[in-house]
Amino acid sequence: MFGGDEKLESIYREVVNRNPGETEFHQAVGEVLSSLPPVLAKHPEFYEYKIIERLCEPDRQIIFRVVWEDDKGRLHINRGFRVQFNNALGPYKGGLRFHPSVYLGVVKFLGFEQVFKNALTGMPIGGAKGGSDFDPHGKSDREVMNFCRRFMTELHQYLGEEIDIPAGDIGVGQREIGYLFGQYKRLTHRFEAGVITGKKLNWGGSQVRTEATGYGLVYFMDEMLRDHKKSFDDMKVTISGSGNVAIYAAEKVTQLGGKVIAMSDSNGVIYDESGIDVETVKRIKEVERKRIKEYTKFHETAAYYEGGNIWEIKTDIALPCATENEITGRDAKILIKNGVIAIGEGANMPTTPEGIKAFMDAGILFGPAKAANAGGVATSALEMIQNSRHDVWTFEYTDKRLKEIMENIYRTCSETAEEYGVPGNLSRGANIAGFLKVATAMIEQGIV
Ligand code: GLU
Repeated sequence: MFGGDEKLESIYREVVNRNPGETEFHQAVGEVLSSLPPVLAKHPEFYEYKIIERLCEPDRQIIFRVVWEDDKGRLHINRGFRVQFNNALGPYKGGLRFHPSVYLGVVKFLGFEQVFKNALTGMPIGGAKGGSDFDPHGKSDREVMNFCRRFMTELHQYLGEEIDIPAGDIGVGQREIGYLFGQYKRLTHRFEAGVITGKKLNWGGSQVRTEATGYGLVYFMDEMLRDHKKSFDDMKVTISGSGNVAIYAAEKVTQLGGKVIAMSDSNGVIYDESGIDVETVKRIKEVERKRIKEYTKFHETAAYYEGGNIWEIKTDIALPCATENEITGRDAKILIKNGVIAIGEGANMPTTPEGIKAFMDAGILFGPAKAANAGGVATSALEMIQNSRHDVWTFEYTDKRLKEIMENIYRTCSETAEEYGVPGNLSRGANIAGFLKVATAMIEQGIV
């Protein structure tokens, strides 16, 4: 796994031992560390300063109880988390995930990834992540508000526009950000807009933030396709998920001439060879907050497969935009057999190590999450800039900045892969480029 580098091997073993049961965190660490042997051969000082050990141990981990009341007056208890991983490049930055699967191992894997992803954006932001095992699905607005208020009551003392700036992730959208910000404002008596990103446009949010992760993913993939003399034009695209990332990836793919033939949610898959209508998906998911199967009520050419596996559908480009480990080794092999040419990771760590290996061995173009889905957090950083200047930018200008950032990230990953002897391997390129930025800053800032 680590190219025979025994020091690296023993650091990894120590991470596994120190963090028992946190399998997603082990996986994320293993993936980054396996890219590092050529870097460490050039830079022995990273061992001397124990940079890898320091990077694998978060600066601070906050775990708290959240008690909230439902509409019938019953009390519920959830667990809240914030892991402030690394602030070598700027204040801690990263989203909050509200989902029953959230536990410390998930928050740490996401926080660890965020450190390198944020570095790749070129913006001055460190890495963090947080969340709760609270499930907003099926809860009333009032219940979600009660939960968010209690969550922020615990967390607010650790936040600040120059300290730690949360945002959304799975289960946390503009509604939740609104309730969280409202409670922060109430507790601190400050309209500190830059303390949270993903806000509504009318009170400090940024244009394009809603679209940013999905649009950014497609800008990144478009750049990669162009580099290989290809484009989205006339390509069949399958996109897993139907949340914020999937919806705006689908919108941008369609704008660029591609055809989105399938999308999904955790219950099943919708399929329409003639192309999926993104506006209908938006209405079902964003306004009505219903399941994706409703889609077939409005489009009779579409089919719905309860419990179906979207990766079994023949496609040119696959964009996993749902959640971690959703493409297994077996799924990857099916996609390859069916002639897929490119994979773009919109979700965080959606491909298992076996899946990544299968894609690499088959020479499939592969846009790794850290790089390809960095558009969301990059636009959060643009939101922070606007907030700090009390400024508001246009959609066109913000979108242009996002596109430039994604093109830059692609170039950085591609050039770094080339420089370190693995041309075309953007996973390695992303890990190495992100690591170098953070590691160098840590050495420059001394042993803290
Ligand atoms: N949760 C998103 C991510 O995975 C966005 C984080 C942010 O905007 O701070 O990058």
